[in-house]
Amino acid sequence: MKNYTCHVCGYPDLDEAPWGDDEKSPSYNICPCCGVEFGYEDSQDIALIAYRNNWIKKGAKWFTPSLKPDNWNLEEQLRRSNIKTN
Ligand SMILES: [Zn+2]
Repeated sequence: MKNYTCHVCGYPDLDEAPWGDDEKSPSYNICPCCGVEFGYEDSQDIALIAYRNNWIKKGAKWFTPSLKPDNWNLEEQLRRSNIKTN
């Protein structure tokens, strides 16, 4: 099964494409890591960046903490997904 990456936080294990296979059909799922709702807070680049920065500023808390790996590292996840935060 293919996994998808959240383009807000870089979480790499989404079951469904956040914006559908055509990139135009948002799933409206919630990212278990950053809690973004695909198709909503990330519908525009400026909103996506604002959401990400705000999430990081508030301590990058997981929306579903039970899925958080013990050795999870925010910088590592962002780096792997090529997400730049400044
Ligand atoms: Zn996310």
